[in-house]
Amino acid sequence: MDVTIQHVNKRFGQKQVLQGVDLRITSGQCVALVGPSGSGKTTLLRLIAGLEKVSDGTIRFGEIDMTHAAPNQRGVTMLFQRPLLFPHLTVGQNIRLGMAKGHHEDLQQWLEKVGLAGRADAFVHELSGGEQQRASLARALASGPNFLLLDEPFSSLDLPRRRELRTLIRRLTVAEGVTTLLVTHDREEAMAMADYVYVMEQGQIIDQGHPVKLAEKSPFFGDGMYLDGDW
Ligand code: ADP
Repeated sequence: MDVTIQHVNKRFGQKQVLQGVDLRITSGQCVALVGPSGSGKTTLLRLIAGLEKVSDGTIRFGEIDMTHAAPNQRGVTMLFQRPLLFPHLTVGQNIRLGMAKGHHEDLQQWLEKVGLAGRADAFVHELSGGEQQRASLARALASGPNFLLLDEPFSSLDLPRRRELRTLIRRLTVAEGVTTLLVTHDREEAMAMADYVYVMEQGQIIDQGHPVKLAEKSPFFGDGMYLDGDW
């Protein structure tokens, strides 16, 4: 299902955080939303998830108007900067929490898919940061979502672990047919993962395009486009 966002404004009190945002995520693709800190990326992601209400505008999933739908009606799952796992539970118990009832026999498959075979009974604190993010990914995807929203999911990892998780997310979301939105301030990450990129600044989309095209024309993607770090 495509996600279509039209003319979305978001205000917190007097403060205008998003202004006239139009954005489309084509079904099955990965779209990146990049921009400096404070530009409104996380707010837009939370609007799509239904965790915040839009001030004006519409959000549609396919043909369905989801603008005012509750979060649990949206088929959306999220992965954050820090792994969101219950520390007092095992890896297996955490992943099972993501599963629809009746699908618990799939646990071993999910552990294998994220490279954690044999770790079902390990406690969360026994895993490395990268392993914890992979367990979080398994939990998120095990719910059978239509959409995966990623909010800077790599920022707590070192470069090799980032690359590993990126590749894994791409492979699994393509295999499962999950439409993905990646929010990041990191150009390299956006370039490496996305089929299409939107650039946001001060609450507005200021540029968009295929990663390679954008790299050719946008100053943001010029020198240092393969460097990590802030804008
Ligand atoms: P980004 O993800 O690009 O760093 P955010 O969406 O987190 O940007 O924030 C955009 C702006 O909205 C910031 O100025 C932030 O302070 C403001 N903001 C975010 N959430 C709230 C809120 N709940 N109440 C008031 N202001 C908020």
